Amino acid sequence: MISVAINGYGTIGKRVADAVAAQDDMKVAGVSKTKPDFEARVAIEKGYDLYVSIPEREKLFDEAGIPVSGTVEDMLEEADIVVDATPEGIGAKNLEMYREKGIKAIFQGGEKHDAIGLSFNSFANYDESLGADYTRVVSCNTTGLCRTLKPIDDLCGIKKVRAVMVRRGADPVQVKKGPINAIVPNPPTVPSHHGPDLKTVMKGVNIHTVALLVPTTLMHQHNIMVELEDPVEADEIKARLDETTRVMLVRASEGLASTAEIMEYAKELGRSRNDLFEIPVWEESINVVDGELFYMQAVHQESDAVPESVDAIRALLELEEDNMKSIMKTNRAMGIL
Ligand code: NAP
Repeated sequence: MISVAINGYGTIGKRVADAVAAQDDMKVAGVSKTKPDFEARVAIEKGYDLYVSIPEREKLFDEAGIPVSGTVEDMLEEADIVVDATPEGIGAKNLEMYREKGIKAIFQGGEKHDAIGLSFNSFANYDESLGADYTRVVSCNTTGLCRTLKPIDDLCGIKKVRAVMVRRGADPVQVKKGPINAIVPNPPTVPSHHGPDLKTVMKGVNIHTVALLVPTTLMHQHNIMVELEDPVEADEIKARLDETTRVMLVRASEGLASTAEIMEYAKELGRSRNDLFEIPVWEESINVVDGELFYMQAVHQESDAVPESVDAIRALLELEEDNMKSIMKTNRAMGIL
């Protein structure tokens, strides 16, 4: 049984902790927080050992009556591997600590590829991370692009991809972020960073993207146009996406016409935190016109890349050589369709 430390127990970290706890080949060594808030208290109630990210703050936890088991460095002593889910940029700074401790580490998409040296997606390049010391699970948006473009590339080859990424302005808990009444080209420069990020895991794909922020917290939404190498019918694309795990076809005609209704569907599925790990693709949007494929999908940014963190643990520790075996194991434990 592998022991996994989760450094940073926020939006991503708490989901990774629960996903790890659900597997039968790994357990949670501990989770870390800087603040003794409700999330820290719930972590203890769930039975996770809690560690303090900033040692000087230990007394704040004492004052709040939240017991801690030590500092992050103490947590690393208890673990075989660490998943770093700290805010953007802090993970890369933590790399030195992990190196000194001689512990393997998985980072999240907020870190730059160059700072970590290797990026990961379960479907596109699992093998590259086999036995590596460090890897970075690509961002929620890049994971979403990869989940659908990889099977399409396998089916009929991709000449060129253009995508318009409509991004949520903030996560539901982020009360101080926006926009609340604007559409913001973000970044205003074209193309956006999402194309280069995809190339860190799907090498050589010809992709350019533009991105906008909009006033919603629920999901991102992608509008994707693909020039194909080999001619295929829209039905073949639908069939391939339908049989691809961690992708689901949804129908606007069944009442799933928006991100709000898709999130309601996740609630109906009884998912913890209403998470949707799969990438929903609107079936009606899939069309091939003059050799060019069009489709629209959504991304539940808080959860879609979480199963990839579990697979990355198996890749780094070489617990599973075959990506599909890890993917199916993770899926079964997390109830992924
Ligand atoms: P988050 O919700 O802000 O959570 C960050 C966690 O790290 C919190 O538990 C925080 O503890 C802890 N932390 C803060 N400062 C720290 C420090 N100096 N040292 C150690 N821990 C510290 O962030 P997130 O949204 O989960 O993002 C984590 C990573 O995942 C980022 O790289 C992000 O880009 C990436 N990501 C995010 C999303 C998303 O939509 N949210 C999607 C995919 C990938 P306290 O709360 O106690 O301060």
